[in-house]
Formats: sequence, C-alpha cells, structure tokens
Amino acid sequence: MFQTGGAQKSGRSGNLTGMEQKRHWRIISKKQETPDTVTLHLEPADDLPVSYRPGQYLPIIRTLNGREERRAYSFSSCPELDNSPTITVKRVPNGRFSNWLVQESQAGDLLRSAAPAGQFVLPEKAPGHLVYLAAGSGITPVFSHLKKLLELNHFPKTPVALFYANRDSANTIFKKQIDQWVRKFPARFSCTYFLSREKLSNMRCTTIWATPCLKRCCCRHLPAG
Ligand SMILES: Cc1cc2nc3c(=O)[nH]c(=O)nc-3n(C[C@H](O)[C@H](O)[C@H](O)COP(=O)(O)OP(=O)(O)OC[C@H]3O[C@@H](n4cnc5c(N)ncnc54)[C@H](O)[C@@H]3O)c2cc1C
Repeated sequence: MFQTGGAQKSGRSGNLTGMEQKRHWRIISKKQETPDTVTLHLEPADDLPVSYRPGQYLPIIRTLNGREERRAYSFSSCPELDNSPTITVKRVPNGRFSNWLVQESQAGDLLRSAAPAGQFVLPEKAPGHLVYLAAGSGITPVFSHLKKLLELNHFPKTPVALFYANRDSANTIFKKQIDQWVRKFPARFSCTYFLSREKLSNMRCTTIWATPCLKRCCCRHLPAG
C-alpha cells in the first residue's frame, strides 16, 4: 500500500530515457473544490488508451526556463467508475506547477505527461482492515481508492477508516462526498476529521493530530492487538 522508491517519493524522476512514452491530455473542464483547490477533468489528446489504477499519479511535464520539469498529481478519479480521468491540484504558494494548474489553466488547454505511475494501489487480496491517514491534497489518491472500495463494493467485508487532517472544513477537499459515504456506508466506513483551525465546530473532529489522539482513534477502529 505504501509508495517506495526515490522517483515514486519525489514524483520528479530526472532520468528521462529515450524510450519513455509521453502522453498528451486536453483539459475538458475545471471544478473548484475548495478556495485553493481544483479538479481538472482530462481527455486524451493522443490516440493512446487511458490506463491507470486507483491510487496512481500522472507525472505532468512542463518546460520551464528551457528545462523539463515534472510534478506528480494523483488521480482523484476511479477508472472503473469515472468517464474521464481527473487530477485534483491544491495551490502551493509560489509553486510553479500548482499555480499554473489551479489559477491559469483553462478548458481546452493541453497538458503533457509521462505514463501514469505509482505503487499506492489496492492490494490483490482483501485485507482485514484498511486505515487511511491523509492530510490536505494527500486525500486525492485515497479518494480514488474510496470510490472503488465503497461505490464499487470492492473488498465488501473490509472495514475502512479514514483519518483526515486539514485547517478547517472549508479547506477540506471532497468533504461533501466523504460525508455522504459516511451516511451511506455506516457499517463499513468511518471518517475522523482533524481540524487545526476550525472556529465553530459541530463536526465530529478533533483539533490536533497528536500521536496519543491518533492512537486512541485507531484503537477504536482496529481489532485488539
Ligand atoms: C506521488 C505524489 C503525488 C502527488 N499528488 C498530488 C495531488 O494529487 N495533488 C496536489 O495538489 N499535489 C500532489 N503532489 C504534490 C505535487 O507533485 C507538487 O509537489 C506540488 O503541486 C508543488 O509543486 P509546484 O511546482 O507548484 O511547487 P514548486 O515550484 O516545486 O515549489 C514548492 C515550494 O518550494 C518553494 N520553492 C521553489 N523553489 C525554491 C527555491 N529555489 N528556494 C526556496 N524555495 C523554493 C516554493 O515557493 C513552494 O513553496 C504529489 C506529489 C507526489 C510526490
């Protein structure tokens, strides 16, 4: 379940081999998720099939000052469920890719990428439990997993717990959909929010992401031992 390897961790693999297959995508539409986060709906602008697994990312490539740079953006879509692949991008102050994608990009624009990659994919065999820890835009690959697990009833006997940290509810990406899943799958799915700067809170949340607190929460969701 966890990502391994240097290129996977950085998402900026520098070794471009001549054999690497580049992809081209057209932005079909853009959806504002939170004040600084958008989801981009993509379609292939080449003749290649769309092929990725929930949890994988798209290495977006851009040439900046004559140098080819790349950044990883996880798919927020699930290939078996969503017609078009989507990536969800949160703006990083002064970030070169994220500001361009969140603020400047428009429907019709073309994006260049390497092939989808990444090992943060669902295991072959159903695990006893699935516990996800996510913060901010780190929810994106988890959201893709959750779509498959909950909407497609994948691993139907596996309970799924999400612990999700953010500044406040207004900046919690996919909150509406996650809350819907909590209501729709009460026996199978739970979400605990950690909100560091929420003013008025009637949500089921805690304000700190501290080890003892997290441990208590995990204990509630995992079998003894
Ligand atoms: C596997 C993986 C999946 C990811 N998935 C997502 C996702 O789904 N959604 C998402 O939003 N992000 C995701 N990311 C993060 C994403 O790849 C980018 O790292 C992020 O968008 C920032 O890129 P940027 O080009 O905007 O920022 P950069 O231009 O790289 O800048 C990052 C920060 O460094 C500072 N900085 C840059 N250059 C310098 C310098 N020379 N000196 C000092 N400071 C500097 C900038 O001010 C900024 O604060 C993922 C990353 C990985 C590794």
